[in-house]
Amino acid sequence: MVVGIFGGGQLGRMLALAGYPLGVRCRILDPSPDSSAGQVTEQIIGAYDDPNALARFIDGLDVATYEFEHVPLGAVHSVAERRAVFPPARAVEIVQDRLSQKAFLQNLGIPTAPFAPVGSRAELEQAAASVGLPAVLKTRFAGYDGKGQFILRKAEALDSGWSLLGQTPLILEASVPFQRELSLITVADKGGKVAFYPLVENHHPEHILKWTIAPAPACSPSLQSEAEECALKIIHALRYVGVLAIEFFQYEGRLIVNEIAPRVHNSGHWTLEGADTSQFENHLRAILGLPVGSTAMRGCALMINLIGDLDDATRWLAVPGAHLHLYGKKPRQGRKLGHVTLCAEHPKMLGARLEELRRLLPASIQLPERLDFG
Ligand code: AMP
Repeated sequence: MVVGIFGGGQLGRMLALAGYPLGVRCRILDPSPDSSAGQVTEQIIGAYDDPNALARFIDGLDVATYEFEHVPLGAVHSVAERRAVFPPARAVEIVQDRLSQKAFLQNLGIPTAPFAPVGSRAELEQAAASVGLPAVLKTRFAGYDGKGQFILRKAEALDSGWSLLGQTPLILEASVPFQRELSLITVADKGGKVAFYPLVENHHPEHILKWTIAPAPACSPSLQSEAEECALKIIHALRYVGVLAIEFFQYEGRLIVNEIAPRVHNSGHWTLEGADTSQFENHLRAILGLPVGSTAMRGCALMINLIGDLDDATRWLAVPGAHLHLYGKKPRQGRKLGHVTLCAEHPKMLGARLEELRRLLPASIQLPERLDFG
């Protein structure tokens, strides 16, 4: 079985690695000659919309998928005419534009932060009046990890926000004073069966994911059900197949969707060692029409992103339950270079292992001050 993946980042790399034991070969399409995924599997080096590269990409392919959602739509449609593509192209189309994504969620009755489109300086004024301040001004297209965002705290900041981002289509979202951020990783198979991992708690100081705690501490069954209901609405509306990630704000005990990702997700990396079947394996199983594996947790886990600088990461393996994943990427400020997942049978043991790890990690890597599972 051959799976084509648009994009050669670390998500593509971990998908490719998950394919090997199943006898699944992954083929990457990515313009970069030293992509993270291309180091571990076959890669077509070429632009996503280069017809020549696309022809080589789809040759002998069983199914195509994505590891990032900003693939040119023309390329996705051209592959979809000749090969199965999962998740469906419509999911990518909706998610690429933050405005269409928010409108889609709103139409399904899923709570989001109040939002308004911004196409001119005058519209920014109107949007600020309608959603209220503080608010977050975001580029509609191609934003991720807090890139292309500007926080408007007071009306005086509108000019700066507009001069920084005004050259592209924008959306203004009310700033949600959330208690915490959670995410749900789900996997839908071709027969419409859906499996859910437990909600996890994510920490994004400086707007980029630094660590994930799995399961999310103090999470009631009703909160998990609320998240699963949102997921089912999205999955049914899109006839979705594959892994879907949903990021939530928890505010006054309820869930508000921040955004969705039609792919495997950073907040699901802990599943590699912390769940019966990882999100990567389950994504491949789902899109190939194979049975989806158990999403049950094994104990608890803390996933820590290694961003910008690595130091001597292999030293951390001395901590029991520590699993290291390096992505083969050159260090650069703000770049995700790898992650460590710390696993334990119970929260107390996880807390003790975190203290051991803290002593070895460089100060530049942000960690939770303590783990409180309540
Ligand atoms: P995003 O790229 O939209 O996922 O944003 C990255 C991070 O910025 C989120 O995980 C939040 O921590 C923060 N953020 C984004 N939008 C909002 C919002 N409307 N209200 C409060 N925080 C936000």
